[in-house]
Amino acid sequence: MSKIFISADIEGTTGINVWPETEPPNDYFRKQMTREVSAAANAAFLNGATDIVIKDAHDSARNLIPDELPRKIRLVRGWMSDPDCMMQGLDKSFDACIFTGYHSPAGNNGNPLSHTMTTSVFLVTINGKPAAEFHINAMIAARLGIPVICVTGDAALCELVHEFNPNIQTVAVNRGNGNGVESMHPLDACEAIKEAVAKAMKGDIKKCLPKMPKKFEIAITYREHHAARRHSFYPGAEQVDSRTILYKTADYYEAMRFMHFCL
Ligand SMILES: [Zn+2]
Repeated sequence: MSKIFISADIEGTTGINVWPETEPPNDYFRKQMTREVSAAANAAFLNGATDIVIKDAHDSARNLIPDELPRKIRLVRGWMSDPDCMMQGLDKSFDACIFTGYHSPAGNNGNPLSHTMTTSVFLVTINGKPAAEFHINAMIAARLGIPVICVTGDAALCELVHEFNPNIQTVAVNRGNGNGVESMHPLDACEAIKEAVAKAMKGDIKKCLPKMPKKFEIAITYREHHAARRHSFYPGAEQVDSRTILYKTADYYEAMRFMHFCL
């Protein structure tokens, strides 16, 4: 195995609790995010990775501190405005993906910062099940035949990851409840991430690849009724109630395009 793609978010970073902690001038969680991504990248290099591309995938996409990342990585910053979104930079040449700092989906009690792509959405389901950014992005990779082999973030997300595919390694750095969070020590979290990535790299990575559904039914319930009306004009979308739209397709790229415009 040689080429690894890391998609890095911040709301599943060890100890993070409220939105102001995700933003400048608060630098602490950027630093911890960088430490966790570095732990994953170092473990990947130690276990056979020759190329690693890291996508800074939170908000401005300018959170990671570049010179604190391991040498030899390549870093994707900012947004390329295409449907690959948090997976920008991924192509068929990669062997596996790792997600760090990921979080529970919109409406889930497992993280005070639970959301799916945007905080203006109340619930997103794909084929009837609540969808986290993990699900959306894992299928972006699976569409190219690339498995996600390790995910770090809150415990509730890790449970959803195991439901999706029990072979994916996870590290539950936080356990959210209501508006609170209980976390590991940040340096212990980095050690656990190293161990999980090492185990993932040594495992049968093909087992981490999900079977792609034959069709996708994506329902988005917005917090505001006017957002549902506005997005109901996306070609093929139908409005099912005052705050919910539904889109059906058999082609996951079309699903990605819909989410690009409607999430
Ligand atoms: Zn984020």
